[in-house]
Order: sequence, then C-alpha cells, then structure tokens
Amino acid sequence: MPDLNHLSISPFTYIATEFASHLVRYFGLAITAYVLIWKRKSFLPHKVDPKPVPKNQIRSEIMQSSLTMIIFSIMGGCVYVLNHDYGWFRFYADAHQYGLTYLILSPILLVLLHDTYFYWTHRFMHHPKVFKLVHRVHHQSYSPTPFTSYSFHMLETLIDSLYIPVISLLIPVHLYALIFVVFYSYAINLIGHLGYELYGKWFWNSWMAEVFTTTTFHHYHHLGGPKTNFGFYFRFWDRICQTEDPRYQKVLQNRKQASGLSNADVRTDQSSQLAG
Ligand SMILES: [Zn+2]
Ligand SMILES: [Zn+2]
Repeated sequence: MPDLNHLSISPFTYIATEFASHLVRYFGLAITAYVLIWKRKSFLPHKVDPKPVPKNQIRSEIMQSSLTMIIFSIMGGCVYVLNHDYGWFRFYADAHQYGLTYLILSPILLVLLHDTYFYWTHRFMHHPKVFKLVHRVHHQSYSPTPFTSYSFHMLETLIDSLYIPVISLLIPVHLYALIFVVFYSYAINLIGHLGYELYGKWFWNSWMAEVFTTTTFHHYHHLGGPKTNFGFYFRFWDRICQTEDPRYQKVLQNRKQASGLSNADVRTDQSSQLAG
C-alpha cells in the first residue's frame, strides 16, 4: 500500500488526482441517484417533500459544487506538501506501528470526532452573524437533491476541509482509516441530501433509528422553521443539546408504528408532519 509520508509526486499531480476523484465520486453517485431514484415514478411515495425543486436549483448546485471540489483539492494539496516536506501530520503506513487494536478502532474514533466537529462547526455557521456569509449558499437548496452534497460557499468548504488536517495533527491516522472516513462521510452526505427516504422497516424498528441520522433528518434541517438537526452521522449531539426537530421525532414514532401501513400511508403521514 502507498505510504503517504513517502509518496513522491508533484503537488500539482496530487491536486489533479484528488480533483479527479472528487469529480468521479460527486458526478458518478449524484447522477446515478438522480437517474435511478429521482427519475422513477415508483420511488415517489418515498419522497420526503413532495413539492418539485425549483427549475434552476440543480444547475446552481453543480456550479457551486465544482468550486467546492477545486477548493477541497487545493486544501488536499496543501496537506500533502506540509506532510511531505515538513512532516506536520501523523499519517502512518505500518499497520503494526500503533497496534492492530488501534488500527481497527481508529476509524470509529475518526467518525465520532468528525461528528462532533461537524455538529459544533455547523451550529457556529448558523449563528446569525456567520450564516449569511458562510452557510446561506448551502441552504439555498430548500429541498435538497443528490447534487446538493457539495454545494457550499468557499468559506464553508474551508471549514469542512480542516477536519482531517486538524485531527491528523493530534492523533495517528492510518491510510485505511483515512480512506474509510472519506468514503463513509461522503455516503452519509449523499444520503442526507438524497431527497428520498429509502430506509425500510429493518431500520425504523431497530436501535439504528435511535442512533443514526437519515435522509428525512437532514431534509428537515433544510426546511424552514427554527434551525434544528445539526448532526451528521449520529443523532447524539442533537439529543444531548435538545436541538432535534420535534417533527422528526414524530415521524420516527409514526414510522415505528407504521409496520402494518403501506408506503403511501407513511408518506401521507409524513407530509402532514411537513405541513404542520
Ligand atoms: Zn445548516
Ligand atoms: Zn445539507
């Protein structure tokens, strides 16, 4: 496996490679989700908000996301140079250097720390003095689509991209753990902005619904009203800080009770929550 500390490519090659990987991930997954889910009438009962999205929304999301991918890649290039030339970060390649237990547990630790970083920076971005400048662009997507997943103002992109460098200054990060958190976080990002709630009974009737966020959870964050549901992977911080949307808690209860109802019944029920 490649050793991040001894990778010898030019910063430009690194930035171009990271940009290409963002392009493939963003357009590959967003287009796939759009074609397979948004374009199929059979998925309509699963749409969180039945209202159509404004005509130009997806175009402006793609424009903004393209800028985000450029900034993410340049930030990645800066981390690459600071690590390669100055050894700032604690990336490592030898799986035995900190023991196998640490190697296996560190992805979980990275996810928990990322969730904490996301929750508190997200709440900061909703401060009235910060919101207009930093976070309003993302919330211009009142009803998110898969293309919203990278639609950030450049300052928000900078804040989001600082997580990995900050954490890698503090704790050892193996390449496998890094790859895991990068791909898992993108999957959660895409699910949060999917616009269609696809989790089935297996999810709503299990402990997972108590712990993990869902498409509906983040969709409610984008809808109007008092700002709630700031969490990313988990409901943990919103529950502790009492910032969870009560409408989401009702949807959750109804989903649990809806075992015997059809999808359409569940959607009707959810729409009445949205209207309220
Ligand atoms: Zn927000
Ligand atoms: Zn969002």
